[in-house]
Amino acid sequence: MTKTGNQTKTGKPFSTVSFFNDVNRFFDLAARHTTYSHDLLEMIKDAKSVYRFKFPIRRANGKIESVDAWRVEHSHHMHPTKGGVRYSEMVNEDEVMALAALMTYKNAIVNVPFGGAKGGIRINPWEYDERELEHITRRYTSELIKKNFIGPGIDVPAPDYGSGEREMSWMVDTYQAFYPGDVNSHAAVTGKPLSQHGIAGRREATGRGVYFAARECVDVPEDMKKIKLAPGIEGKRVIVQGMGNVGFNAARFIQQAGGVIVGLCEYEGAIYDKNGLDVNEVFEHRKATGSILNFKKAKNFTRSAEGLEQDCDILIPAALENQITLANAANIKARIIVEGANGPTSPEAEELLIGRGCIVVPDMYANAGGVTVSYFEWLKNLSHVAFGRMHRRYEEQSNQDLASLMEKMTGTQLSKEQRKLLVKGPTELELVVSGLEDTMVTAYHEIRDIKMNKKEIESLRTASYVGAIKKIATSYMNLGIWP
Ligand code: NAD
Repeated sequence: MTKTGNQTKTGKPFSTVSFFNDVNRFFDLAARHTTYSHDLLEMIKDAKSVYRFKFPIRRANGKIESVDAWRVEHSHHMHPTKGGVRYSEMVNEDEVMALAALMTYKNAIVNVPFGGAKGGIRINPWEYDERELEHITRRYTSELIKKNFIGPGIDVPAPDYGSGEREMSWMVDTYQAFYPGDVNSHAAVTGKPLSQHGIAGRREATGRGVYFAARECVDVPEDMKKIKLAPGIEGKRVIVQGMGNVGFNAARFIQQAGGVIVGLCEYEGAIYDKNGLDVNEVFEHRKATGSILNFKKAKNFTRSAEGLEQDCDILIPAALENQITLANAANIKARIIVEGANGPTSPEAEELLIGRGCIVVPDMYANAGGVTVSYFEWLKNLSHVAFGRMHRRYEEQSNQDLASLMEKMTGTQLSKEQRKLLVKGPTELELVVSGLEDTMVTAYHEIRDIKMNKKEIESLRTASYVGAIKKIATSYMNLGIWP
């Protein structure tokens, strides 16, 4: 294992495990199931451009600080490259490289025509006020502009851990200040607020995608029989780690679909109630008290990691990487793990879990909802029109005509509700959800088919890599360089 650094500004040690090595180990495992040359596989695996930089900022208290930052473009087999920007004091080059590589494979798996990229700013965003964060974000963006690491056809950042719509709106505004008159400038950044050319449903897209991933997995009766669970999401007992963008929304959608959220874990601790926790109520409780602990009759665990080891059917790690390792894998009771976070399971832990019959739905597929809807946002920005705007009314009128004709021919009058249901044209959100659902469903079965068609492929992760490698290799081979 490779050591990745020494310590953060506040003295916390960086991980000593190389996340990029882990990603590459998974890649190598999968590559054995393909027939591509070593050269081609190395071409796919390596990061293509790594930009590491440092810039000074003046804090509100007058102190000068230097900020370390990165942007890694992992693959240029398609343009633009795409990936979030992480704001965390634990960010390091190895992590950004790993996350950029995962983006390449993720895009390929869900058939999003982008290369993979990732950015990182090494700060603890909760220790900076809004003006300082704006200054850091704008400076980060202008550094990317200087080196041509951002643009609608070059590299398109999005939110990640520690960043959100606010940061994306600062980024795109900075980009536009440098490129006035560029009609496509909105497409330089995704995950923007709706008011700034964002798209309906982007905020909750990753969590919604995690829900679709979990649902597809439990909807295959043959696979559920092997792990002695009834098919269907209804009644499945679920533990979610991380009540942030991904975890909170995944929990919400699963609950809406009839799943039972029995456990929630945050950094301050975990709560568990076998009768189910109302996710929205826990969210409000945390807002009011500053902690998820002491929620109604739920059992408290002051050591957050203990929450992962409680009884459930599905475990969704949706906080950070490296949460399920050899240190706790043997204690995990879930029979299905759906990875909301990037890299939450170490290769050794996955081997142990799969050996025990557990199904691991891998990050590079399960959390691809965000980039999928980012792709829709990018398309919307380039076409300069909201989805549905041109045809919604037309569709409604056609449906009205059809409904009237049906009434005339059958002599039956539709009720007001029936007519409303029948004629309604789609909203942008409905189109986005439909596109996302189709993407997640199609990709799940593509991956599962790869696994089912070759018995040596032991995991959905390996199958995902095999599928991604094939798609990326094909695009390199189409260049005519490799035979
Ligand atoms: P977020 O900052 O909104 O939420 C993360 C949550 O995890 C926070 O509530 C935080 O308090 C909690 N947390 C941190 N450390 C924890 C610990 N040790 N135990 C329990 N909880 C802990 O971030 P997010 O956007 O939800 O991202 C979460 C993960 O999902 C990251 O790995 C990110 O790379 C990945 N991801 C995010 C998106 C997206 O669209 N936001 C897309 C794909 C992947």
